[in-house]
Amino acid sequence: MSNRIVEQPPRANPPTPDPVSGNATTPRTPRLTALTGDPAAYNYAFLDEVSKREIRRALLKAVAIPGYQVPFGSREMPIARGWGSGGLQVTLATIGPGDRLKVIDQGTDAGVNAVNIRRLVERTAPGVTTTYATEEATIIQSRHRFPEEPLRADQIMVLQVPLPEPLRMVEPRESVTRQLHAEADYARMWVHLYEDVITNGEISRAAGYPVLVNGRYIMSPSPIPRWDVAKLHQSASLTLLGAGREKRIYAVPPHTDVVPLDFEDYPFRVEDFGEKRCARCGADDTYLDELIVEGGGRTYACSDTAHCDARIATTDAARIPHAD
Ligand SMILES: [Zn+2]
Repeated sequence: MSNRIVEQPPRANPPTPDPVSGNATTPRTPRLTALTGDPAAYNYAFLDEVSKREIRRALLKAVAIPGYQVPFGSREMPIARGWGSGGLQVTLATIGPGDRLKVIDQGTDAGVNAVNIRRLVERTAPGVTTTYATEEATIIQSRHRFPEEPLRADQIMVLQVPLPEPLRMVEPRESVTRQLHAEADYARMWVHLYEDVITNGEISRAAGYPVLVNGRYIMSPSPIPRWDVAKLHQSASLTLLGAGREKRIYAVPPHTDVVPLDFEDYPFRVEDFGEKRCARCGADDTYLDELIVEGGGRTYACSDTAHCDARIATTDAARIPHAD
């Protein structure tokens, strides 16, 4: 066997006849060009059709069994696992020409993660536009937050999930958690919440608060704050949840009961911001982020920056005197 490496010409460039001898010659292709390839050669929405079909099948099953975690073959993505690869695969398998995509990272459209995911979709899915405005979006991919505005029936919410298994805190073995779900045996979860009340005086879980979906499966709603948990209950929109690293997809269909787990004497409650208001728009009815200002002081601002900006724009427009 010869050790010589024979360079193969790319198929796109057939051998051209030598102008002098008339014999076919092999054109020399710069190696870097050959390695990087043509960006236009990417499949629509990056994923190949077989992958998208498999993800869609998992999504259909997830919608049919609300709150049930469907295993799927999570693909290698151009972002690392743990950075929204699950949500991105769900978005790419769902999106099509005419869709308008909004991407949020911790409430803001300007986060590095959101910017890069948006750019990937813009480059690989022609016909898809992107937007910051919640009301304009047909698909909203998010990490950690729901938009403040209620979503409509023609909108799909895609959540990035790091840890899809709500029973992981009481059972480390996957084979056992799957059995517990199958048998709806959630006794250990209730004991865990009871112990939390005994230790901390309340159910202390702040993000990813466990919920019962459609009266059947306990589900982790992804690390959204408690503030957003109520938005899942009887929502007009479809919510799809993707966990790339853990290879799980699950869903909450529209108009489905999503009930946070609690006790009669320790009822579920959302974050209380007291008298605090947004320092930018003055809102006292939104989920606020605490910001440390120069000198060590604290201030608060809406976590949903697009909602905050829209509110400021409306207030400014009202302030402009009418030209009579
Ligand atoms: Zn605000």
